[in-house]
Amino acid sequence: MIHFTCDCCGRAINQTSETRYVVRMEVYAALDDEAGNTAEEADHLGEIEDLLERMDDIDADLDEALYRHVRYDLCPDCRERFLRNPLGRVASRTSYSEN
Ligand SMILES: [Zn+2]
Repeated sequence: MIHFTCDCCGRAINQTSETRYVVRMEVYAALDDEAGNTAEEADHLGEIEDLLERMDDIDADLDEALYRHVRYDLCPDCRERFLRNPLGRVASRTSYSEN
């Protein structure tokens, strides 16, 4: 059996008694002409993929700078914490109480 540990708190996730949550994030460089042009968003994503495929052969470091895909396993506690503050913002408590 595969054992998972929470990538946030480092705790082992007991999958027989609790749910393991997976966070997948993409961080990529925004194209200049992407704003306000949502109808063509699918085309732009295709262009990015083409671009990345071509750059794969050229420069892996440049590829990383333009596009990162990360995946984390989270325990239920850290899932809650992550959803409350996905970007790890500091002092976000005041804005929450105002809402
Ligand atoms: Zn955790």
